[in-house]
Amino acid sequence: MAAAQVEAPPIREYPVIPILAHDAMAGSKPYVASEKINEAIGFPGQLVENWQARAVEKMGELLGKYRSLRVFLDACVHCGACTDKCHYFLGTGDPKNMPVARQELVRKVYRRYFTFAGKWFPKLVGAEDLTESVLEDWYKYFNQCSECRRCSVYCPYGIDTAEITMAAKEVMDSIGMGQKYTNEIIGKVHRLGNNLGLPGPALADTLETLAEEVREDTGVDVRFPLDEEGAEVLVVTPSADFFAEPHVYSLIGYAKVFHAAGIRWTLSSRASEAGNFGLFIGNYAQMKAIAARVREAALELGVKRIVVGECGHAWRVAYSFWNTLIGPFDFLDSRYPVPQHICELTYDLLRRGAITLDREKNDHRVVTFHDSCNVARGSGMGGMPRGQFIIPRELIKAACNHFHDMAPETIHEHTFCCGGGGGLLTDELLDLRVKGALPRMEALARVVEEHGVNFMATICAICKAQFSKVLPYYKFEMDMIGGVHQLVGDAIRLGRND
Ligand code: SF4
Ligand code: SF4
Repeated sequence: MAAAQVEAPPIREYPVIPILAHDAMAGSKPYVASEKINEAIGFPGQLVENWQARAVEKMGELLGKYRSLRVFLDACVHCGACTDKCHYFLGTGDPKNMPVARQELVRKVYRRYFTFAGKWFPKLVGAEDLTESVLEDWYKYFNQCSECRRCSVYCPYGIDTAEITMAAKEVMDSIGMGQKYTNEIIGKVHRLGNNLGLPGPALADTLETLAEEVREDTGVDVRFPLDEEGAEVLVVTPSADFFAEPHVYSLIGYAKVFHAAGIRWTLSSRASEAGNFGLFIGNYAQMKAIAARVREAALELGVKRIVVGECGHAWRVAYSFWNTLIGPFDFLDSRYPVPQHICELTYDLLRRGAITLDREKNDHRVVTFHDSCNVARGSGMGGMPRGQFIIPRELIKAACNHFHDMAPETIHEHTFCCGGGGGLLTDELLDLRVKGALPRMEALARVVEEHGVNFMATICAICKAQFSKVLPYYKFEMDMIGGVHQLVGDAIRLGRND
């Protein structure tokens, strides 16, 4: 959909009661992956002939493999606690974007083929065949779920719609109904090592340019090493950090932290991507293959620690899945956590006095923080309860004099998704992305009005890319979004006279 056709909904007063707009998003549909894209990553090129039977078979396989999926499909009592918790429902009003309605798309098929009542009395129990129109709804509405897990926080049974979405996507991929954007990116990682398709020489050039820029700016030789054997730390970061604004300022921040602390570090051309889109399609084989590059790079370079840059879902995969997928990490230094988040590393250095920050350097900024879903609801940090909320905020407060959180009902585990996660960060879904960002924009508008906030920090590349795009639709400056390490990088002392 062209940007000009997209209009942002008006900012509303909290609490919001969404007005129902039936089928408002029925026209929202991302491109289906082509034969070439699907086959490159091992999925059928196009919708297979006996797709109904194959899809039901795949569902059966997933139900056998993931006990949680069956529990989630059985346990819902339709209490309604989740209905108004999804940003896509709040932003679009389309009732099919209520989490319970989204789950129901799979649940009715599950009942039909996997429950006694559904097999014999389908109408009585709301069971339905997997028809073409049901599959069409699956494709549309599971591509309107960013797998942010906000709804699960409010469900008394802990039902996780994201897991149901991932299962539906895995079923669709298995019958040749993959989504173009996500599958294309997975293919690029396999071919070139990163989501953006940057070849090794382009990475080296970019890093050299960054080093020059920092030298011009600070007079200090801050290194951006690539494939440096024997370095202590391997940093894996989203490839956007290498060249896109504002991401690149975070990479500069990491480099300055390592310089100031005197730690030898390196990036890797083999593992030049922290992101792992295998998570978004619920496919563990893809997740494992993508994650394996990190282990191979770490072994090849002989590093002692692996640190993950600012990327929400990459951190979730690393924190929750790496050990199972690519562990054990017995070749690394056991004094450090594996993986370690860049925020944990910087926070630790700060507390030990190994780096110094001058808050005044950020006095032109009034800062708020956006908790990214996959960090907030999918992982921890620093080995402390709620560390994933505390550590980034402590870093911001150490780097800035002016920090204000958004309203409590919109932060920490209650945070709203940026609207572009889960493999939806593609331009043909811009209308959905703009509308899905509405609850976060409303919370931002309040903190801007109350405190004059002019910078929203976050630790996720997808959030940064999504906000850079949608902020102008809500009349905010697109450059008010940036990374926590952008603030750290601007405040850090690099040398004695700095
Ligand atoms: S996981 Fe997030 S995007 Fe998906 S239904 Fe729940 S709240 Fe909505
Ligand atoms: S909150 Fe949980 S039990 Fe209630 S309707 Fe939503 S998914 Fe079902």
